[in-house]
Amino acid sequence: MGMSTLNKSAEHYGLGLTLGNCEVRLDELTAAYRMIADLGRYRRLRILADAPETAPPRQLLSPGTACILYDMMEQPFPREPDDGLMRARGAPTRVCWKTGTSAGYRDAWTFAFNRQYVVGVWLGNNDARPSRRLVGARAALPLAAAIFRSLPAGSAPAWPDTHGNVKTVSICVTSGLPASPACPAVKSAAMPRAQYLHRRCDVHHPRQGGGVIARWPGAPMQWDLARVKNPVALDADKKNAITEERRTLCITSPSDQARYVLTGEPDGDRIRLTASLEKRASLHWYLNDRYLGQSDAASPLFLSLEPGVHKLSCMDPGGATHSIQFEVVTPARGMRLKS
Ligand SMILES: [Zn+2]
Repeated sequence: MGMSTLNKSAEHYGLGLTLGNCEVRLDELTAAYRMIADLGRYRRLRILADAPETAPPRQLLSPGTACILYDMMEQPFPREPDDGLMRARGAPTRVCWKTGTSAGYRDAWTFAFNRQYVVGVWLGNNDARPSRRLVGARAALPLAAAIFRSLPAGSAPAWPDTHGNVKTVSICVTSGLPASPACPAVKSAAMPRAQYLHRRCDVHHPRQGGGVIARWPGAPMQWDLARVKNPVALDADKKNAITEERRTLCITSPSDQARYVLTGEPDGDRIRLTASLEKRASLHWYLNDRYLGQSDAASPLFLSLEPGVHKLSCMDPGGATHSIQFEVVTPARGMRLKS
């Protein structure tokens, strides 16, 4: 995306990169925001309007993803009305903005954009001296708003065609995944139109004879989300449902579609296989349809992870089986896992 200052190793930045702990240039970050404003099309900035383009534009985000970002960042400037009716009567056109303040108060940033204009503001000292006044929302935002509002009204539409680029998807309220027909409570969420929905809620399953079973995969069992009291209002046969759930064989670790990154440490790449019935029956396990071994309450079964996509199956004494799929990958080059 043309960030020439982003040139150190992954370790140098660490997870702080997600919060923006890297050094950036005003022109290059403005170009990045222009990429969002132009529905994912990146072009290097030119200083003069009639300077030749140095490279053809590149589509870095889908228009739908850019529209979702518009939706996230749209807000009126401070002290402007936030009301669709007011807008229609000639209040300021719609705008997105985002502020930033660097750790140590060295820089105050604001970017404001719509389809017509992108305004980038950086305030700071040339010798990088900090100042308590260098706060994005207090120092840079008023200036960016004043510049943005002083620009001549553009002839192009100020807002992208969100309907053409965004679709509404039904989401399970409990799991946050695209809803399956069994999900008892759903809500709508906007998603890029081109987004392929490769997962559906795998918590709620139809129960034989009616009703719904909530089956939590192993990994989030300890999360607060999984411990929500009565997360779904089940029918009057809730007791039966719970009994049914206890009798249903279900692999709880690894969870379905889990992804493991190998650590390379001694004993670091072994996982314990667990299933819902493990305390009450001995279970037989199969990896990629080959027999692995048997587990019971006294003797758990461990699996050494190997790279690849694997199918894991478990069978109870009654012959019921449950299968899941998981993936094991080697760490990306340059990435080091710390213990
Ligand atoms: Zn659900």
